[in-house]
This record gives sequence, structure tokens and C-alpha cells, in this order.
Amino acid sequence: MPKKVFVMGSTGSIGVNTLNVIRELRDEFVLVGLSANKNIELLEKQIKEFNVPVAVVADYFNAEKLKEKLKNKADCEILSGAEGLLTAARESDYDILVTAVVGFAGLASTLEAIKRQKRIALANKETLVVAGSIVNELAEKYGSEIIPVDSEHSAIFQSLVGEEKEEIEKILLTASGGPFRTWNAEDLQSATVEQALAHPNWDMGSKITIDSATMMNKGLEVIEAHWLFGLPSEKIEVLVHPQSIIHSMVEFKDGSIKAQLSLPDMKLPIQYALTYPRRLKSDFVQTRFPKIKELTFFEPDFQKFECLKLAYDAIESGGTAPCILNAANEIAVQKFLEGKIKLTDIPKIISKALDDIEISQDLNLEEIFDCDKRTRNFVATLFN
Ligand code: MG
Repeated sequence: MPKKVFVMGSTGSIGVNTLNVIRELRDEFVLVGLSANKNIELLEKQIKEFNVPVAVVADYFNAEKLKEKLKNKADCEILSGAEGLLTAARESDYDILVTAVVGFAGLASTLEAIKRQKRIALANKETLVVAGSIVNELAEKYGSEIIPVDSEHSAIFQSLVGEEKEEIEKILLTASGGPFRTWNAEDLQSATVEQALAHPNWDMGSKITIDSATMMNKGLEVIEAHWLFGLPSEKIEVLVHPQSIIHSMVEFKDGSIKAQLSLPDMKLPIQYALTYPRRLKSDFVQTRFPKIKELTFFEPDFQKFECLKLAYDAIESGGTAPCILNAANEIAVQKFLEGKIKLTDIPKIISKALDDIEISQDLNLEEIFDCDKRTRNFVATLFN
């Protein structure tokens, strides 16, 4: 029997790649649900190609538009909004939930899937960043598997197969360094949106590409790794590796280091999250070392990339600090994309939010939603 897969965030970069993987492995997987934020044209195509029984659209009016387009296709139920996403997570028939929703919107539905003991192929960083302790507690209680899709975390996960957590010395989380790796701090002040969106190795959505330019993406990944692998921040080291061939490494107590390597292609970690513990034949990636020629490494510049430092600090502060960091960053990135602030204002805004908003150590879902909202409102007031 093929495994039933629900893809939340199917029109984004991870979502589209997930569908590419499923298209190649039709005997193994069947798509049973999709969700999209705004791109209903692509969603409509995906619904028709894979004949899915349920789809969720973030916006009610777009959902109505899509229903109209699909009126001759009564076998696909269209839901809308956060409530629709929750209903789908709670009631749809699936084995694996791929959560590739951008930002904070993926949390509640992921928790529902965990409670139903489904496998989570986790591509949404924010879920663990803001609610890591809650996710872990639930996953343990219900015995559901969380398999990372993020290339670095997939690499660490793969390096840890057959190993004991107690024997880890540290994780080496690799980072491309983004488009501004070789820029000096002064020039960074005048970086344009266009320059920030030109990522050297990965083709991704705009939010995550800006996060790569500020290295907040790596900061969020450090927090994600902290929760996924249950390690303190001092055991998670960021290593700049511009070629993005080594996707991350684990150093063990005996000095041995395991890594996972390949040319950068998101289809590989996505497929692994779906097929784990198996590896299936794929046509996707062919890594030829003579063509790559060299692999280089640098220490990250915490002064130039303040966001990375802020993320480490947020782990130490604990409680809702990562939630504040994440929400302030989301709004700041949006303002940068709108041309309202400089790239270097992003860490300033996050810093201000972390200083001014009270951090609660009593972490529950209500507190997190409240903190998220409070932070967004606070950051908005900085622009009046
Ligand atoms: Mg990554």
C-alpha cells in the first residue's frame, strides 16, 4: 500500500519539490491533501494532476475563487483559513504530514498531526523554534516521529543513525554564508533587496532567502537543532562552508566525524524524510568530486551577522525568547522586502523586541500565540 502524504505549503519551494519526489515515486506514495497560501493557480494544477481529495487555502476569498474554478470537480473538498488547516490535520486520512508552511502558521496543525501519531516531515523551522519543548513533549507522549527536511538537520539526523546521543561531542551546522559572506560590515548597510535575494547556492522563497542573507536562517537552525537533537547551544557550532556540499556534520567523543554530502538539492532530504529508514533509487543528485574541486571552511562572523548571535542568546534566555526573536524577524524581513528598512535594521528591531517585551518562562500554546501577537504589534508600533 502506498503511504498517504499530506503536503501543507504545496506551492512553495519545498512543497513543489515534495511533489516532484512523489511524482517520481508513485508506487510508494499517494498525495491526499494540499494547502497553499496565495498561489491558487498552481494549487489548482496540483489538485488536478494528483487528484487530491482535500485542499486548504489560507484566504477565504481565494478559497471561494478556487471552488468556482473546480466546480466541475466535486471530489475535492476546499477548506480555508487556519481553521481549515486544523480541520485537515485533525480529520484527513494521511500517514505523513509534510509541513512546509512559511512562518508561524504551521504550528497548530503540526501539533494535531503529532497527537494522531503521524510522521511529521518537518520543513517548517518556526514550529520547533517557538514551541520546541511543547512539540518534543507531545511527540514523546504520542510516539510520533519527527523527521527533519531542512538539509542541515537531515544531514545531522542521517549522521546519527545507529549512534548514541550521549556520545555526541558536538554538531557542526554548516552555512553557505549567504550573498554577503565576503562583504564588509559597512557595505552591508547599503545592501539592496535584489542583492539580498540572490542566494549563491539554494533557490528558495523570499523570506528564507533574506534570512540567509542576515544569517538568521542559521540562527533559527541552531535553535531547531537544539530541540531536534536535545543538545545545549554550546554543542552546536556553526561552520561557514560556501560550497554547501557538506550539509552538516556530527563530531563524536572519540574524535570521529560523520557528515552527509551531496550537491545542494532539496529533493534529497525531502525524499529521505518520506522514505526513512529506507533509501530509494533516485535520479536527482549526482555528486562528482572532481567537478567540485574544493571544499572550504570559515568561522562565522558574529559581529557582522548579529542575527546569529541573537539566536544563540535566545536559547539561553529560553521560554518565549525564541518566539519573540522569530516574530520580530518575520515582520522586520517583511519591512525590508517592502523597502522600508535597511538589511542592518533587522537585528536592531529584533534586539529592541527582545529587550522590551517580557519573556515568559511558562511555555504553553496560549502563551506562545499571545507572545507572537504581542511581538508583531510591538514591532508594528516602531513604524508609526
Ligand atoms: Mg537549511
